Amino acid sequence: MAFIQSFGAAKVVTGSAHLITLDNGKKLLIDCGMFQGENEEKNIKSFEFNPSEIDWLIFTHAHLDHVGRAPILYKEGFFGEIIATHSTFELAKVVLLDSARLAKEEYYTYYKKAQRRGEENLIKPPLYTPEEVESFLTLKKRYAVYSTPIILTKDLNITFHNAGHILGSSFVEVRFIENGVEKVLIFSGDLGNKNDMVLPFIQNVEKADVLYIESTYGDRNHKNMKKSLKEFKKTVLNTLKHGGVVLIPSFAIERTQELLCIFKLMYKNGELPASCKIFLDSPMAIRATNVYNKYPDELSKLCQNFLKEDGSVFNFPQLEFTQTQKESQKINLIQNDAIIIAGSGMCNGGRILQHFKHRLWNKKNSVLFVGYQAKGTFGRRLVEGAKWFKFYNERIKIKASVHTINGFSAHADQTGLIRWLKHFDNLGKIFLVHGEEDKQIIFKKAIKKKLGIKAHIIEKDDEIYV
Ligand SMILES: [Zn+2]
Ligand SMILES: [Zn+2]
Repeated sequence: MAFIQSFGAAKVVTGSAHLITLDNGKKLLIDCGMFQGENEEKNIKSFEFNPSEIDWLIFTHAHLDHVGRAPILYKEGFFGEIIATHSTFELAKVVLLDSARLAKEEYYTYYKKAQRRGEENLIKPPLYTPEEVESFLTLKKRYAVYSTPIILTKDLNITFHNAGHILGSSFVEVRFIENGVEKVLIFSGDLGNKNDMVLPFIQNVEKADVLYIESTYGDRNHKNMKKSLKEFKKTVLNTLKHGGVVLIPSFAIERTQELLCIFKLMYKNGELPASCKIFLDSPMAIRATNVYNKYPDELSKLCQNFLKEDGSVFNFPQLEFTQTQKESQKINLIQNDAIIIAGSGMCNGGRILQHFKHRLWNKKNSVLFVGYQAKGTFGRRLVEGAKWFKFYNERIKIKASVHTINGFSAHADQTGLIRWLKHFDNLGKIFLVHGEEDKQIIFKKAIKKKLGIKAHIIEKDDEIYV
């Protein structure tokens, strides 16, 4: 009998890795993600299964918590086939290389410091190098197209469906026949928010005997997007009107492209002051945007119209991409009439810190948060009213105003998740993954109430027989 084990994203949000073992011994691993935040120490532990036994590695999408440990899987013996959409492969390359480069830089910094103390032996090398990422990506690949089954064996096929979460994101349907009976398993990956401007909305399907569903925001509904957008525009325009500069810390994938869409719409509607410049000051976000540009067919109607009307999805005359360090530093000379989008999204690294150094002391400027700020990040401290920003040996007094706009999210909220569940005609067992336990308990109750189905919260050592 086939069974499923979850080696990550069990009562936590990160580290997605669900292993299906079929009766005939064939194994499919759905995602192989990095643990982030409180569970990071798990990344250096060995896998609790044998990577060389995996036949197929399937990526639902390119976020680090879904692909981040795949190069380690390869280093520890995986030599099977990787299956994902074309755009997921491209974004995964951007994400994995960025993560490997950052880890390498961090390692050298810590190593040099430790060397001076004579403790360099205590410094752990990065989990993988950029070269190892490149090498991992030479493994055999199969490219998935939405709604088109991929035949793996005569009794096993998988189909990717659009999940509307980030470019290329999919929920995956696994169909196999055991003892003459067909089973349908669905793994949701991460499911998108219907308010997303960049992507079409999540697809619906009819049948699942077993469904593994994410539950990141299963406990709540997002703030109204229309209101949030209004608040966003008001804050931006107010700052510009009073001679200030707007700083927006942003995640490189999806949130940045969404911001570009909003500003492009404002430009087209004549809402942006003509003298104002928008800088996308993040090499990774520029790389990600270039990948989005390559797959217009996978984008929303709005994006496709932008492409038709002016030959480019995201570009418009007031937008500048600042790729190099030199170009980035030039922005410092600008005193007003500018909006700067830079990473990292939670302000624990990246070019946004340079801009903070140059701008936070000035009360005319504003910082606009459009994404989640985890505990322990500088972004969170800023949101919670920090008075000082320490940058190397300099202390900068925070006088700029800080705003949080809550409506943005790449994940479906409770209403969105339930709506998607209601589209199934034939739904067997529901298992909750990719969420914190307190939120999952609330989501589980909502499923019971709205659908009359008792969902099960996946524990790390569960073996689910199907
Ligand atoms: Zn995701
Ligand atoms: Zn995720």
